[in-house]
Amino acid sequence: MTKTEFTPAPNFIRNIIAQDVKDNKNNGRVVTRFPPEPNGYLHIGHAKSICLNFGIAAENKGGICNLRFDDTNPGKEDIEYVESIMEDVRWLGFDWDDRLFYASDYFEKLYQYAVQLIKAGKAYVCSLSAEEIRENRGTLTTPGKESPYRNRSVAENQDLFERMRAGEFEDGSHVLRAKIDMASPNVLMRDPTLYRIRRIPHHRTGDKWCIYPMYDFAHCLSDSIEGITHSLCTLEFEINRQLYDWILDELNVDCHPQQIEFARLNLGYTVLSKRKLAELVNGGYVSGWDDPRMPTISGLRRRGYTPDSIRNFCERIGVARRDSVVDIALLEYSIREDLNKRAQRVMGVLRPLKVVIDNYPEGRVEELDALNNPEDPGMGTRKIPFSRVIYIEQDDFLEDPPKKFFRLAPGREVRLRYAYYITCVKVIKDEKTGQVIELHCTYDPDTRGGSSPDGRKVKATLHWVSAVHAIKTEARLYEHLFIRENPDEKKDVDFKTYLNPNSLEKLPFFVEPSLAGATPGSRFQFERLGYFCIDSKDSSDQGLIFNRTVTLRDTWARIQKAQQKNKKRGKR
Ligand code: ATP
Ligand code: MG
Repeated sequence: MTKTEFTPAPNFIRNIIAQDVKDNKNNGRVVTRFPPEPNGYLHIGHAKSICLNFGIAAENKGGICNLRFDDTNPGKEDIEYVESIMEDVRWLGFDWDDRLFYASDYFEKLYQYAVQLIKAGKAYVCSLSAEEIRENRGTLTTPGKESPYRNRSVAENQDLFERMRAGEFEDGSHVLRAKIDMASPNVLMRDPTLYRIRRIPHHRTGDKWCIYPMYDFAHCLSDSIEGITHSLCTLEFEINRQLYDWILDELNVDCHPQQIEFARLNLGYTVLSKRKLAELVNGGYVSGWDDPRMPTISGLRRRGYTPDSIRNFCERIGVARRDSVVDIALLEYSIREDLNKRAQRVMGVLRPLKVVIDNYPEGRVEELDALNNPEDPGMGTRKIPFSRVIYIEQDDFLEDPPKKFFRLAPGREVRLRYAYYITCVKVIKDEKTGQVIELHCTYDPDTRGGSSPDGRKVKATLHWVSAVHAIKTEARLYEHLFIRENPDEKKDVDFKTYLNPNSLEKLPFFVEPSLAGATPGSRFQFERLGYFCIDSKDSSDQGLIFNRTVTLRDTWARIQKAQQKNKKRGKR
């Protein structure tokens, strides 16, 4: 495995903030926030934003980062999401101390700000229907049409807005709009809606409110109320910045945060949109938000990802203003690199082939020494039982091996990891199907521990388990959730069309007995099979379930090599 060394790299946001601190802008303070809407579980894209916001705060002396729930959209939001988001941010290793905020806590203040805009003649109650408003908005090339309600008097607007709040009107009958410019080249500036009537109880404010602020109004003002200095968001909000600034300028607030946009994370072979992820959950395409195939933080955690691996991944992908798709192999590389250092090595067999060692005494059991982690001798050794009947993987034997197949074959000698050299002497097949169902081998007693005193070499080392000692568990093997790198690519095709029917395979898994007391959530490297994590939800006293986190094949190293080659070629 190649190691990629990295130190926290400068990026354009770190640079802007460093300059601001140097210039003593905001008295040298750095205050950021992570502002999720509690309408779904967090995904790996959110992890990028979390690492950026909390990371930047931590890098700057006295810097702080708030957690703020942007809960202005009742109906879609839920306390379950609030709790999962807090759990995930903490699990990633970040802490908001006592700075947990909710946009809904500001509803009264936001209302007063809206009144202030009305009094200044900068907002009006519009009684067009949603459809009429849309029709009047114009297009990118044609200006919009002014609402017939645009010139209502301040007194009338105040009265109507108060009565909107009091619940006198039907949903959709009135909205509060900013009075900006219906001919603005920026469509968002064409008298955007600031408040709408929605008679839906809110998960925190109950039925106290029946009018709710729109995102653009609530977001900038929540930032300002909290004294945010740098409001970092993804590129799709670039066009909202003009409105963000307009609202704060018109209200002449004390704190006017600077909005800076960066490219969102896109990851191959998955989707990163809460709406789409919710569709997978609600449609039963996956077992839940924490299905180990999901790109959610909770899914990745259940799959076996560590917080370190995700933070390292986020550091590696960097922060830029150009949209791109990150290769999922890089995410897998990050967890492999981390688990290589910390995961205990063990053995297990996924597709067992019975091997009887003819010259090994019946009933004898030896306890052999095995290394827990060759990368870290400090992790010590353990005992594994060896006996006359063992299991090896079916695909570690071929009756008629091609040239480059060095594993077991008739008459051939191989090493059993930490045990003995064995030689295949007889192959037993199912009479009907011709399938190999059992091998007979002999072992060389002088090769105990896996080396031969006469220096005799073998070309393969196989993993194995003692048949009577092995614990039968379940393995869950995963492939990418989608068969296309970009499931969203074709506009006229539903992304679910590209779900991978083979994304989950469940198999009986025969594992060494040392795993008997292993706890859910613990991670292991099964020799030659990959990294696995004990499922923390479905494992029970009756049986352990092992989720394969990743295989041991490092596709990222190969991709990097190819990229370097291409670069060199390009230079020539
Ligand atoms: P989604 O598109 O998944 O619904 P969202 O932007 O609606 O995401 P929010 O809860 O509003 O979800 O996101 C909270 C923060 O996380 C925002 O600042 C948003 O910009 C950021 N974020 C969301 N998705 C990504 C992503 N793929 N990459 C980087 N940051 C993201
Ligand atoms: Mg959003």
